[in-house]
Amino acid sequence: NLELLTKLGSCRWKIKRISPMNTDAVIFADEKILHALDDKTVSQMRDVASLPGVVGPVCIMPDAHSGYGFPIGGVGAFDPEKGVISAGGVGFDISCGVRTLTTGLKKHHLKEVSEKLADSLFKNIPSGTGVGGKLKLTNNQMDEMLSGGASWAVGQKMGFPDDLRRIENNGVFRQADPSKVSKKAKQRMIDQLGTLGSGNHYLEVQYVEKIFDEQTAKAFGIAENEILVSIHCGSRGLGHQIATDYLPLMVKSAAKYGIKLPNKDIACAPIKSSLGQDYLKAMGAGINCALANRQRITHLVRNCFADILPKADLKLLYDVSHNTCNREEFLINGHMKTLYVHRKGATRALGPNSPELPHEFKKYGQPVIIGGSMGTSSYILAGTTASAELSFSSSCHGAGRVMSRTKALKSFKGKNIQDRLNLNGIIIKSGSIRGLAEEAPKAYKDVERVINVAEQAGISKIIARLKPIICVKG
Ligand code: 5GP
Ligand code: MN
Ligand code: MN
Repeated sequence: NLELLTKLGSCRWKIKRISPMNTDAVIFADEKILHALDDKTVSQMRDVASLPGVVGPVCIMPDAHSGYGFPIGGVGAFDPEKGVISAGGVGFDISCGVRTLTTGLKKHHLKEVSEKLADSLFKNIPSGTGVGGKLKLTNNQMDEMLSGGASWAVGQKMGFPDDLRRIENNGVFRQADPSKVSKKAKQRMIDQLGTLGSGNHYLEVQYVEKIFDEQTAKAFGIAENEILVSIHCGSRGLGHQIATDYLPLMVKSAAKYGIKLPNKDIACAPIKSSLGQDYLKAMGAGINCALANRQRITHLVRNCFADILPKADLKLLYDVSHNTCNREEFLINGHMKTLYVHRKGATRALGPNSPELPHEFKKYGQPVIIGGSMGTSSYILAGTTASAELSFSSSCHGAGRVMSRTKALKSFKGKNIQDRLNLNGIIIKSGSIRGLAEEAPKAYKDVERVINVAEQAGISKIIARLKPIICVKG
């Protein structure tokens, strides 16, 4: 339905505003991505733009596809007084995100030991559906972790204070309240801290294949052939249970709050309401859980490297989540305004000079970490100044799926994929070789195309291309 689109700029399109939309909806895409976009994703954008107190534009990123309620790859900002917060707008894996570590090693350092390292990472970082780890949290520790995030984990000697400067919000989401999280959610988390989970979560050893912007790369501490480690996972069973607990409450109370839900999957509550506040605080605890989880995994990864490559010095480049609702300030019609920004499968991408950034990144913008697939490139981008106005300082978070999990399982064989990747020098470790089919590189969009759209639209800048060496898959 291209006649319903207006071209706003390079790789930026506005869809026609129809009733009951309260604001504009913008798609970041080139023509090919635009043509491949399914109707459900577009109608989900329209639903978000129809919610009360929405501040436009509602955006979808070039890696977007349909999701539960909100599209994945969607950004929706809301006024604190009149707006809503949506459990579906944050997603089931609260604060799923990626962190990347530099190692101080070059590609050749891995040659003799990559098999050994792969075995050690696979053995020491638990992965798979519902799989737990060695650490069992007491009730007190659970609550401290849910309040303190990565900062709590560092206090427990799982990392260094310097790590925290390189985490969004310095590693702790302040508006968290563990008492708003159900017993069941906490129960599911008791032994899951420091675990990857399943599906598209990964622990990847990569090398920097190409640098596109020398100065920024230098500020980020990366150079050609440098070995990096990227960790993609979220809040495990706890975040999932928070979403499961709050979604029906939001559906049930919508009428009471005078909200006409365009679709029940998009359930939400006024930010100011008691339910909205409870969810916000529970979600905050979920965010802290994900930050602590990635911090503990980092600690385990550091131990593996210390054993096998004692020369390695694993430093956090950056940790950024892509399933959150964050309180942020934006210039709207000439005035600074506080907004609650949902990013679901979208990455915060602050431009240069943002007060939030550590001083060494101020000139360059925030590192934006993009996964591709276990067989293709991944990227490091940087946030731009223009993205504040274009996309509420947001960018894409990956390549994005083109094929459903079911279809991928039918189309590919896990063992074949593993063999083929091995031939290309990529070591794949997974508890579920069959499940690898779901994650076949061909089940994802072309990551090059996606990040080129992000750059051409002006919402981020391409800094470096990474290639996988070892991938531990959930
Ligand atoms: P999501 O957060 O939506 O679950 O996934 C984020 C992105 O990670 C996906 O869109 C995909 O492009 C990317 N991805 C999935 N599996 C892998 C993997 O094994 N390695 C890398 N580097 N990226 C992956
Ligand atoms: Mn994710
Ligand atoms: Mn996830």
